[in-house]
Amino acid sequence: MEVYEGRPSPGGGNGVFAKKDIKPGTTIMKDQMVMQITKSGPQHTDDEVRHAFNQLRPDQQAQFLALHEGSRTFKTRLLRIYKANAFGHGNVSHIYLDISRINHACVPNAELDLGPDDTSASVTVVAIRPILRDEEVLICYNPMFSSMTAQQRGNLLRAYYGFACSCTSCLLQGHRRMLSDARRRLIKAVMFPLHGNIPPDFDQFNTLTVANAETTPGVASRDLAVPLSHSTHCGYSLLLTQLLEAENMEGVDLASAYFGAASSLMSQMVAMDDIIVLQSAKNVKCWSEKSIEIMTKVRGRNGHATVLLREQWENMQSQPQLYAALEFLGSENCSRFRVQQRDGTMHEAFALWHRSDANQLCALTESTCIAVLSGTVSRSLLNQRKVKLAP
Ligand SMILES: [Zn+2]
Repeated sequence: MEVYEGRPSPGGGNGVFAKKDIKPGTTIMKDQMVMQITKSGPQHTDDEVRHAFNQLRPDQQAQFLALHEGSRTFKTRLLRIYKANAFGHGNVSHIYLDISRINHACVPNAELDLGPDDTSASVTVVAIRPILRDEEVLICYNPMFSSMTAQQRGNLLRAYYGFACSCTSCLLQGHRRMLSDARRRLIKAVMFPLHGNIPPDFDQFNTLTVANAETTPGVASRDLAVPLSHSTHCGYSLLLTQLLEAENMEGVDLASAYFGAASSLMSQMVAMDDIIVLQSAKNVKCWSEKSIEIMTKVRGRNGHATVLLREQWENMQSQPQLYAALEFLGSENCSRFRVQQRDGTMHEAFALWHRSDANQLCALTESTCIAVLSGTVSRSLLNQRKVKLAP
């Protein structure tokens, strides 16, 4: 039995509503792509849309013609409907007839899942937070909205789709709205570099209207000249998690941001080779587990994205640095000794022999510097680092 039904929406037009209480991670709808145009948005022509429309079955054509046609000034109704309902990115866009009936919220309660192959042929809509019976199912139409101010989002929605959003973020007033806008500007500043791009300028949307919509330039994507360092990547990812949470955004982006922070910190740990920072190991574990917890909530325990994250986390734990640190943190049988650091300070240290390899010694301190050494080279390496062991 379907968990949703179509009904008139309070925001105008029709919408999709929950027929019963829906838990996060529940599949609400599955849909197949019926139209596709492989060209960037501004180059779409009436002829191309008509050609794609003519390939549809008569019942699909009727369904397409019943969709919202937005508020853009294109000549033909077919092109207006296509533009108001197409999903896509870069040079490809698609139409899904059932998903197109779902309305928009900048803080949505559901999102699209493109499946394990990340193809667009078949798409699932999944709940990302609890949806009560009779509540409207809402998805976010534009992945860049998390980086735009309320005014920019509002102008875009009015100029392109012809409606005003009444989500919790768009309804904020006064200082709360200023704070939300500031957070979304910060999300832009960190999210684009995390994907290898220079943050774009969205100022052109501050004055966007129906009248200037077709002459206002779109968003150009430019690559970062220098990729982010591991530590900047880690810092940006962690900041992104906090900003998304403060903006009440759940879903795969939040899970991915936590895992991004864990894996960039892990890369830093691997680069430091024989030095382990225990706090880093604790953070890698905490953020990876948090990421898996969020992904399990929004995609289910056996969802492909959750399974993939768990596999990546297992791989991470087999890295020698993390393995040793987690083994140490979980072990009660360590011999204690004292370590003199390079600056002369003394720290209590613990020695731990790997169960699997008695020759491998981990000398670990509770402070920042920890050496993981192979038994035969431990002394020379400690000398080299000017660390004295005082039994
Ligand atoms: Zn909104």
